[in-house]
Amino acid sequence: MKGSVAMEATRRRAQHGANGKSSEEGGQPAQWGRAWEVDWFSLSGVIGLLCFAPFIVFYFVMACDQYQCSVSQPLIELYQGETTLLSIWSRAPSFTWSAAKIYAIWVSFQVFLYMCVPDMTHKLIPGYVGGVQDGARTPAGVINKYEVNGLQCWLITHALWFANAHYFHWFSPTIIFDNWIPLMWCANILGYAVSTYAFTKAYLFPTCAEDCKFTGNVFYNYMMGIEFNPRVGKWFDFKLFFNGRPGIVAWTLINLSYMAKQQELYGHVTNSMILVNVLQALYVLDFFWNEAWYLKTIDICHDHFGWYLGWGDCVWLPYLYTLQGLYLVYHPVQLSSAHALAVLLLGLVGYYIFRSTNHQKDLFRRTEGSCSIWGSKPTYIECSYNSGDGGLHRSKLMTSGFWGLARHLNYTGDLMGSLAYCAACGFGHILPYFYIVYMTILLVHRCVRDEHRCSSKYGKDWKRYTDVVPRRLIPGVF
Ligand code: NDP
Repeated sequence: MKGSVAMEATRRRAQHGANGKSSEEGGQPAQWGRAWEVDWFSLSGVIGLLCFAPFIVFYFVMACDQYQCSVSQPLIELYQGETTLLSIWSRAPSFTWSAAKIYAIWVSFQVFLYMCVPDMTHKLIPGYVGGVQDGARTPAGVINKYEVNGLQCWLITHALWFANAHYFHWFSPTIIFDNWIPLMWCANILGYAVSTYAFTKAYLFPTCAEDCKFTGNVFYNYMMGIEFNPRVGKWFDFKLFFNGRPGIVAWTLINLSYMAKQQELYGHVTNSMILVNVLQALYVLDFFWNEAWYLKTIDICHDHFGWYLGWGDCVWLPYLYTLQGLYLVYHPVQLSSAHALAVLLLGLVGYYIFRSTNHQKDLFRRTEGSCSIWGSKPTYIECSYNSGDGGLHRSKLMTSGFWGLARHLNYTGDLMGSLAYCAACGFGHILPYFYIVYMTILLVHRCVRDEHRCSSKYGKDWKRYTDVVPRRLIPGVF
């Protein structure tokens, strides 16, 4: 089985090479998809991340637990011989069965909501797009169907959270904070289990063999994934489930748990904690409100499902995207009105740019250019590309609205919002600023990755587009 898959991969690689050549020579549209070959630079990045990412998460969470969120103190103590790695490790809370029970109930509940409660919200809320939706065309030419019910899952989960906090009192609203490190071990177990399962499944029983990519390097395959859209049965889609829930549904609950902890410890909630909760809730709600749009983003359209998405969604996202709230439990910063207002403005303007840019592209693509952008008909570049099955397809790249100012203003808006979350924590420590550093690396890298992919997909048409819109993130600058 493994051999036949490898042969198939070789055959497709040969086809890919042939296609690439003829498109160059004959002026035909290029093929696209993730790289088949892995260079040494990418490989060392992959191995570095596989080795260090779990430690980065542990380090930040441990720094809050043992060193009041100081990132430098553990290093200084280690350097001066005042502590050892072993004593840091032994002071960290270990795995507990009660955390495992909480985590198992949480994930099972999200699976239940995802699989067993078909979307009703699109029938009740005007303007919301939910229920069964089409994804984008995969490199093999497949269009998958998705049950979009994330907003409903988020609403039900949060309604139950508030009902518990105010009426039922089954558990304390600080439950997440109180079990934070034991829960991290459980999240790691799930993250590794799901990535390993997806990796093995790709060899033994892939959902769509034509959309699998084998690079020949086991580390790269494990990290970046082999299968494009692995599924169990017809509807359990790994990418949609693991990215949205439990990761993003949990994000707002984690913040609420931090807020409850602040209240419990200090008898009040600071304006910084409220700002972080409100701005991040806006981002999360936006994600679920636009979940159908999310089906057309890079995560679903172009990334294969491996450790990067599987472990990242289970561990990296819930633990590192929520560092601001965690920090504010240890340092209850009360901002001046001017500072709070500036943070709020930065967050809202960033959100506006992020959302409007994404909305413009979505509207443009849905209507195939028959829409109004900033009061006039959008301008665009006609382009074409081949899918893996040899089919020729046409597409358009918009050159007006936010997309005419720079090629990725949605990333710029996202970065402004990210900076606002960090600035809400004041300037006492660098730990809450990890997020903006990480998001900058993530989105700049994504920008480069996406442009590389678009360039191989659209060939000369992409060059025409970049001539018209020369800047990536900041109009006139970069
Ligand atoms: P985009 O939504 O920018 O999608 C890029 C794709 O859009 C390209 O591959 C191309 O796809 C198409 N495209 C590019 N230029 C044009 C154009 N001028 N006109 C029409 N279509 C165009 O990127 P992402 O999917 O990465 O990001 C979506 C959002 O999610 C962003 O706002 C980002 O900030 C956010 N995000 C947040 C993350 C987080 O962790 N918080 C992580 C990742 C993303 P095609 O092949 O269809 O032409």
